[in-house]
Amino acid sequence: MDSGYGITVLTLFPELVREYFRTSLVGKAAERGALHLEAVDIRSFARDRHRTCDDAPYGGGAGMVLMAEPLAAALDSVDAQARHVVFPTPSGFPFRQDDALRLSRLDGMVLICGRYEGIDQRIVDEYVHEELSIGDYVLSSGELAAMVIIDAVYRLREGILRSESVREDSFQDGLLEYPHYTRPETFRSRSVPEVLLSGHHARIARWRREQQLIRTAEKRPELLQHVQLDEAERKLTESIRTKERDDE
Ligand code: SAM
Repeated sequence: MDSGYGITVLTLFPELVREYFRTSLVGKAAERGALHLEAVDIRSFARDRHRTCDDAPYGGGAGMVLMAEPLAAALDSVDAQARHVVFPTPSGFPFRQDDALRLSRLDGMVLICGRYEGIDQRIVDEYVHEELSIGDYVLSSGELAAMVIIDAVYRLREGILRSESVREDSFQDGLLEYPHYTRPETFRSRSVPEVLLSGHHARIARWRREQQLIRTAEKRPELLQHVQLDEAERKLTESIRTKERDDE
């Protein structure tokens, strides 16, 4: 296991981010020396005695904008020019599992948590390598988005989780994950699918793959475009999609 992966979060709410670090599995991984975590308070880089970090937008309009100067000073303090800088924003590229994997292979990242209407564009132009959106909705600030990205990324680092657990997650092979069951065998008259009790590994693997295909065809059919299917699998997913269309 290596401790070379450094995650720095620039935020107006360092306590919120530190609490996440303290109470989550990512924090446990840091305690074991698997990564290095840091939350930096942007406000401590404000220049005036009121520690102002926001100002009205040029050109008018609603809301305030996170000012360039405190943010630039905070970025310089963590040597951001030499690191990979991510700005979570609703106007970024959609953040997907592929991005998590790509980011997990770097040596770390600096995340800027926006607030108000967003951050001064000149910070994006000067420091940011990528803008990522965690979904088509607007949060009031970037901390939750940064935590989502950190959580998705760190668990893909070598040696953090058991590799088969990551390999079988949703999206790793382009499909949603199959359903899970644990004891008891019957819960409120609902029984565990017989095949899972059979001990027959090939049958279990076939059933799980089929469940993945059914789930994906029902809930996220667009994902199937990128998955290699054999003839039987293609027919199965087609029949589910046809049924879905008929039910509409
Ligand atoms: N005015 C911005 C817009 O319409 O795109 C929204 C700003 S939002 C109120 C404040 C901050 O929350 C953003 O700068 C960003 O850092 C964060 N944020 C909100 N929604 C997000 C999302 N879907 N993905 C990533 N970050 C988000």
